[in-house]
Amino acid sequence: MSGAELRVDLDAFAANLEAVRARVAPARVMLVVKDDAYGQGLEPIILRAREEGIDLFGTFDVDTGCAVRRLIGAEGTIFAWLTVGESEIADALAHEIDLGVGDRGYLRSVAGVAARSGSTARVHLKIDTGLHRNGIRPEEWQEVVAEAHRFETEGSIRIVGVWSHIAEASDADDDDARSVFDDAVGAAESAGLSLELRHLAASAASFARPEFRYDAVRVGAFCYGVRSAGGVGEEELGVQAIAELVAPVSEIDEVSATLQVGWLDGLPSTLAGRMRVHSPEGAHAVQEIGASQTRVERWPGAAVGDVVTVFGQSGASATDLAEMIDTVGEEILTRVSPHVPRVYR
Ligand SMILES: *Cc1c(COP(=O)(O)O)cnc(C)c1O
Repeated sequence: MSGAELRVDLDAFAANLEAVRARVAPARVMLVVKDDAYGQGLEPIILRAREEGIDLFGTFDVDTGCAVRRLIGAEGTIFAWLTVGESEIADALAHEIDLGVGDRGYLRSVAGVAARSGSTARVHLKIDTGLHRNGIRPEEWQEVVAEAHRFETEGSIRIVGVWSHIAEASDADDDDARSVFDDAVGAAESAGLSLELRHLAASAASFARPEFRYDAVRVGAFCYGVRSAGGVGEEELGVQAIAELVAPVSEIDEVSATLQVGWLDGLPSTLAGRMRVHSPEGAHAVQEIGASQTRVERWPGAAVGDVVTVFGQSGASATDLAEMIDTVGEEILTRVSPHVPRVYR
């Protein structure tokens, strides 16, 4: 081993999936695989999830959705929520990908592309419940829903879902968002739309708050064993980290051991002086993080070739590191450079 490796434990991933699924049942789990499945590698994650019976996948973009479709074949539902432009709509139709639609102009584009190709687009309408990122505003909702219903009658669109995204930062804000969501669902149903999938929550709310589960929950972090920063611990969640970033010792002097990993590999240099790495002999303070090497406090038995855990299943978790520099665990994982080999077991 000459450099860092991200070791991914697919059995641990399967166990997390089962824990999340048991927790939220009877709601379905939509496995979120944005950012190359949170840096774990799209293909092995999708294939294992499929084996474990997951049949609902969430991606940001249509391209990733198409990649998922190629991996899973014709069965299963894929939802891409951030799509732009007509060529993406055509790709989504060709690969049977459900589209998240958060504005009226885009709804018309989807209907237009579908009508011209003689197909029916599966659409999940997004209500803006307060995050103001994207989404149909409550004051426009009624009209958009009526227009969507006309497209359904013409056959270009089928509204299969209503969805939104919440901050999961305060229960009170989330409750306000949920009440806007409930009104939107009610209005859609009274307008004659029959919804298969109402979905609102991501990891944190789906775990903690049953009333946020509806038909499905969109979960990324907890399936990959990443707890929320400042939130409930892994043990209580019933999940474990599935990834471990390891690096070999390449040099030793009187005071330091040098590891072959650095900020070019995605390890934030601001963690120097804060974090510790772990060898079988214990935890060792990190002194300096360079471009491709990291110096840590030397320990008595240190030897060139020793393999040390930077974060992961043993030692600090991605979220432990994130909390030292005020970010979230997902960020630590997704920063691991694509050049760092992923090794699956
Ligand atoms: C990332 C994301 C999720 C998953 O969030 P986690 O906290 O990782 O479970 C769900 N929905 C949307 C829209 C997202 O962007």
